[in-house]
Amino acid sequence: MKPYERWLARLLHIFLTAVVLIIIFLKETEMHFAINNGTQYYVEAYLLLVTLTVLLYFVCSFLDPGYVVRRSADIETVVIFHSKDDVAELLKNEEDDDSETSKMIQNNARNIRLRQCGYCEIMQPLRARHCEECGRCVRRYDHHCPWIGNCVGERNHKFFFAFLCAETALIGWSTYIIFKAFVPELMLKEWFTKNWMFLFSIIFLIICVIVSGLLTLCHSYMMFTAQTTWEFMSRPRISYLKIFPEHYNPFDKGYLMNMVSFLCYCNYQQWDNMYTKP
Ligand SMILES: [Zn+2]
Ligand SMILES: [Zn+2]
Repeated sequence: MKPYERWLARLLHIFLTAVVLIIIFLKETEMHFAINNGTQYYVEAYLLLVTLTVLLYFVCSFLDPGYVVRRSADIETVVIFHSKDDVAELLKNEEDDDSETSKMIQNNARNIRLRQCGYCEIMQPLRARHCEECGRCVRRYDHHCPWIGNCVGERNHKFFFAFLCAETALIGWSTYIIFKAFVPELMLKEWFTKNWMFLFSIIFLIICVIVSGLLTLCHSYMMFTAQTTWEFMSRPRISYLKIFPEHYNPFDKGYLMNMVSFLCYCNYQQWDNMYTKP
C-alpha cells in the first residue's frame, strides 16, 4: 500500500464523516432543532461520540501495529514447541477423546520451530505474520485494513475494536436522526424534492451500519475466543495450530480473561510461553 493510498483512505473517511455531519447539523433534523431549543446535552453527547470516533480512527491508523524489529538474539532463537507427548498430555482431559482426535495427534503432533520471514529475514515471534501491504512482519497479526491504511496487530487491535464499537454507535444514531427528518408529502415528486438528500444519506448509512455492526460482532468473537482473524480464517495452514483438534486453542484463557488480556494489556505478550506452558 503506497503512502498516498493510505492518505486517500484517511481523507475519504474524514470527507464522508463531514458530509453526514453537515446534513445532520444544517438540514432540518432533530439535531438542528436541539440546537435551536437549547437541548445542549443531546448536541454535546453526539459531538463527543463524533470526536471519540475520529480520534480512535487516527489512533488505529497511525499507531505502530506491532512491527517486529530485528534483534541480534533472534538469529540464535530456536524455540521448540509441543512434542507429541505434550500434546497428548494436554488433551488428556479434553472431552473429545475419540479415535479421530487421537489419530490427529499421532499424525500431526510434532516439534515446531519459529519461522524466519522470507522478506524481512528476521525470526518471527509466535503469531506474527508478514504483511505484504506494509512490507513488515506484524506481531499477533490480525489483518491489513485498507480503510485505516494500516495493519491491525497486537498493539492497535484493542483501539480498532473500540473504533468499531464507537463507529457503529455513531452511524446507528445518525441513521435514526436522518430517519426522523423525512418530510411527509403525498406527491412522489414533491416528496423526492424535499427528501432526496435524506434518502441517499440513509441508504449510505444503513450499508455502513450493517458493515460496521458485523465487523464489531466478528471482532468481539475474536476477542472472547482469543483468536485473530488470520488464525480463524487460515487455521488448517497455520503450523502452530493445525496440530490441535479444531476446538482447541492454546491461547484460550476463558472468555473473561481473554477479554481482559485483549483490552487491558499494553505490553507484548509472551505467546510462546503461553503456548508451551498451558
Ligand atoms: Zn516480514
Ligand atoms: Zn499491513
